[in-house]
Amino acid sequence: MEYILNYTREELNSLLKEGGFPAYRGKQIYQWLYTKHVDDINEMTNLPVRLKQWIMDNYICSFPKVIREQVSKIDGTAKFLLELVDEQTIETVLMFHGGKAVKQRKTLCISSQVGCPIGCVFCATGKMGLKRNLSAGEIVGQILAVSKAHGKIDNIVYMGMGEPLLNYKSVLKSIKIITDEVGLNFSSRKITISTCGLVPEIKKLSEEKIPLTLAISLHAANNELRNVLVPINKKYPLEDLLQAVKYFINKTNRKVTFEYILVKDLNDSISHAKELAVLLKGLLCNVNIIPANQVAGTAMKRPNGRVIANFAQMLQSKGIETVVRSEKGADIDAACGQLKASTNGND
Ligand code: SAH
Ligand code: SF4
Repeated sequence: MEYILNYTREELNSLLKEGGFPAYRGKQIYQWLYTKHVDDINEMTNLPVRLKQWIMDNYICSFPKVIREQVSKIDGTAKFLLELVDEQTIETVLMFHGGKAVKQRKTLCISSQVGCPIGCVFCATGKMGLKRNLSAGEIVGQILAVSKAHGKIDNIVYMGMGEPLLNYKSVLKSIKIITDEVGLNFSSRKITISTCGLVPEIKKLSEEKIPLTLAISLHAANNELRNVLVPINKKYPLEDLLQAVKYFINKTNRKVTFEYILVKDLNDSISHAKELAVLLKGLLCNVNIIPANQVAGTAMKRPNGRVIANFAQMLQSKGIETVVRSEKGADIDAACGQLKASTNGND
């Protein structure tokens, strides 16, 4: 049986037509799923009994199941362990930004794969290897499962488990579904895709001309160091990566984010900052510094606050827009690079 969340509205309409139902029923089903966050067919009260039965006979109609929810005592960040239909599990993280509760914005960090094959040395997901790609419906389903309990989400970032551009087709389809005005109605400007730097896919994405935010996990400004930290750099070195980023900017006119993990004594010196400033000079971009989060099995340490501030200041003094990303959910292992979907707590 097919997963109903895998269809765009147009596809659902034509399936219904083939099944002998009027196409407008597609819109109704879409609204139940995407605006009312209802996945129980029996609650879809405006559908005729025959149609409900047809859906039940032919399609799996359920959101990923929340099997664990951990809430940070520090900042309210919530980490969800979600179970998919084949019992694989993934993690999704809900973060809150901004001051007073009424003004708080919610960002959901979603996964695109179960595990990841890239193997960056600092990343817990990378240590799992790749189990499988997620389908478009499983990607979108994370938003629905969380929204059902926690209300409307403001921003979506593809920064959870997996490398989104290795699952290009499903990720693109998920964006189509997320931005459908009859459903979740997200502006693509509220969507960020983070990649370790797959050059052909960045070029392909540029051609789609979707005004989303592209984030590049850079972490080093020279090939020697980046080869060690992000092994895909051996295949797509910095020169090629930067060229692909320029192509994206040309096609979309969107500012690109460069993520830079700051690791103690490895890439955190003032000369590293200067090297980074030279590499990015003149590009329509900003830098997100991510002080390294501790992952078991790696010797990577976070530099102290002064080193982090000096690094950021050096970039700013060279005219590079820079922010230091604040750590979220430190007490529940929900921060960047810590997701690994274990069912037995945080170990
Ligand atoms: N695969 C994609 C998206 C998921 S990772 C990518 O690599 O971009 C999201 C971000 O978390 C990336 O910038 C990644 O490099 C970063 N990250 C991974 N492990 C980390 C760690 N231990 N500390 C801080 N950031 C980490
Ligand atoms: Fe994969 Fe991203 Fe982790 Fe690297 S940082 S192993 S690309 S999830």
